[in-house]
Amino acid sequence: MKRILVTGGAGFIGSHLCRRLLKDGNDVVCVDNLYTGRMENIEGLMEHRQFAFRKHNIIEPLQMDGLDEIYNLACPASPPHYQKSPTYTTKSCVLGMMHMLELAAKNHAKIMQFSTSEVYGNPKVHPQPEGYWGNVNPIGIRACYDEGKRCAETLCFDYHREFGVQVKVIRIFNTYGPGMDPLDGRVVSNFIMQALQGKDLTLYGDGSQTRSFCYVDDLVEGILRMMASGDTFTGPVNLGNPTEFTIRELAGMILEMVPGNSKIQYQELPADDPIKRKPDISLAQKELGGWKPHVSLRDGLVPTIAYFKRCIL
Ligand code: UDP
Repeated sequence: MKRILVTGGAGFIGSHLCRRLLKDGNDVVCVDNLYTGRMENIEGLMEHRQFAFRKHNIIEPLQMDGLDEIYNLACPASPPHYQKSPTYTTKSCVLGMMHMLELAAKNHAKIMQFSTSEVYGNPKVHPQPEGYWGNVNPIGIRACYDEGKRCAETLCFDYHREFGVQVKVIRIFNTYGPGMDPLDGRVVSNFIMQALQGKDLTLYGDGSQTRSFCYVDDLVEGILRMMASGDTFTGPVNLGNPTEFTIRELAGMILEMVPGNSKIQYQELPADDPIKRKPDISLAQKELGGWKPHVSLRDGLVPTIAYFKRCIL
């Protein structure tokens, strides 16, 4: 049994991770300031005797003892959320990372940083291997998140080299599943909610841009394998589903799976929207015991649509 801190534990991925860590018998402290995290995600955990919730913003330092591991997820992550207050987003990434690394150093705890495919920006290399340094517009509307997360990675590796902190860095690609905020503005939640409500699907651009969608359970398995990997393996390692879809294909699939009269409504493509995204997962497969996603997009959309239906009721 370990004592584990999960920052952003009331968010979509964080709450799935908390549940899994509890199931595996650990003590879990969930820290979240509920900026985008939601209490309903952890409602079922509040009674668990090995679970504790603490409302805190990691922009401020955090004191805690006896920690074995830290998972640092706290940061607004969907484009509309992280663009709402871009300076806040950068602070969450950079100050939050510093505070968590300080905490890890004091506790001699292992720390995992939840980085992102956004560090590759609008990639010129396809698919993206970890060795690719990316193509990020440093002054664009996505920069608060992209550069914030890039700087957080820098901090991880500098704390590792300078102070010997044991770090693990994962780069997460688009993830979906039950527990997503129906209003987070992401493509999967938007399209399913729109289809369920008989509204037209808002497709940005011509829909030829691509993403690779990973079901949350597959991701959580990769996260745990990464934390359990040997001390010398710091990453960064890509975690995502390498099956690539155009956003138009995703819209078509959702229209087929949610019967109704919705059509596609074309809207302007937001600035700096990456044209292609697909992880090269060969490093994860090599270092994480052959890890790869098992749930296809169509299979993962079934429980996801059922979840969003319950959100509407
Ligand atoms: N998108 C869309 N309609 C929406 C929301 C998003 O066409 O209602 C597009 C968006 O422009 C992007 C892709 O879907 O090309 C994925 O967007 P999302 O916000 O889910 O995540 P991102 O990968 O861009 O961070």
